[in-house]
Amino acid sequence: MAFEGLADRLQSTIKKITGKGKVSEQDVKEMTREVRLALLEADVNFKVVKDLIARIKERAIGQEVMESLTPGQQVIKVVKEELTTLMGGEQSKIAVADRPPTVIMMVGLQGAGKTTTTGKLANLLRKKHNRSPLLVACDVYRPAAIKQLETLGTQLDMPVFSMGTEANPVDIATGAIEKAKEEHRDYVIIDTAGRLHVDTDLMDELQQIKSAVTPDEIFLVVDSMTGQDAVNVAESFNEQLDITGVVLTKLDGDTRGGAALSIKAVTDKPIKFAGMGEKLDQLEAFHPDRMASRILG
Ligand code: GDP
Repeated sequence: MAFEGLADRLQSTIKKITGKGKVSEQDVKEMTREVRLALLEADVNFKVVKDLIARIKERAIGQEVMESLTPGQQVIKVVKEELTTLMGGEQSKIAVADRPPTVIMMVGLQGAGKTTTTGKLANLLRKKHNRSPLLVACDVYRPAAIKQLETLGTQLDMPVFSMGTEANPVDIATGAIEKAKEEHRDYVIIDTAGRLHVDTDLMDELQQIKSAVTPDEIFLVVDSMTGQDAVNVAESFNEQLDITGVVLTKLDGDTRGGAALSIKAVTDKPIKFAGMGEKLDQLEAFHPDRMASRILG
């Protein structure tokens, strides 16, 4: 399960301090040292850990005593609040354009889960928000990717806009928006091409699509199992495309958690959704507070 090692370590660290009626500066120092090691072991970005620990220390030492909590519980509350803030604080909502359709561009490396997430997101928008999305196949380099999206469309009973592999992705994207307007569809979700690594050709193409359709959201799909690599990928995509949010996939796997805990701090872009399995209903809104509670037990 995701975060298992981190959760175990943090929970045992915290147990030592929970019941304490009095927490000394030494206790806080020992706790933060263990929290620090646990986070580093979970592959959380070094700088992120450093800043987080400094804030926890500052708040936990010399904290105001709250009557309803023991000092031990108070320290844990600080840790939980800081972890929540680290992952983005408030849950972040999906955009709605003033004039439909709302355009969402899905970007990311090959294998991250982009196409699957496109289908999952369409499903979620219809189920939870009563929307009618149009899916768009812009990965013209891999016929299999178009086929995969079409299969998802059939499974979901949702239309897929495709112009095959010969057309230009910019024309496909703009054509899809016209079509969505004609059919009064309120969301357009564009599945773009991925590569194995970040490269200039890919970024150029994504920038062209971006300027042609001015998306309301650009979601970067990243595989949470890839840890710090996911954070580096997020940094590059954000620099090039100014993404609006992140979807973390494969949180149902045994990721150590580094990506989830570092991406917001490093890119300043919120994690909006979490992929929790391969099935089309396994995409959830990402709630930083619930995630922090899950990690801390
Ligand atoms: P793309 O190349 O980025 O479009 O990636 P795909 O959508 O083809 O996904 C790659 C693989 O990851 C597929 O086998 C998906 O079923 C799987 N996948 C995607 N999201 C998740 C997730 O949240 N959890 C799990 N366990 N697998 C996922």
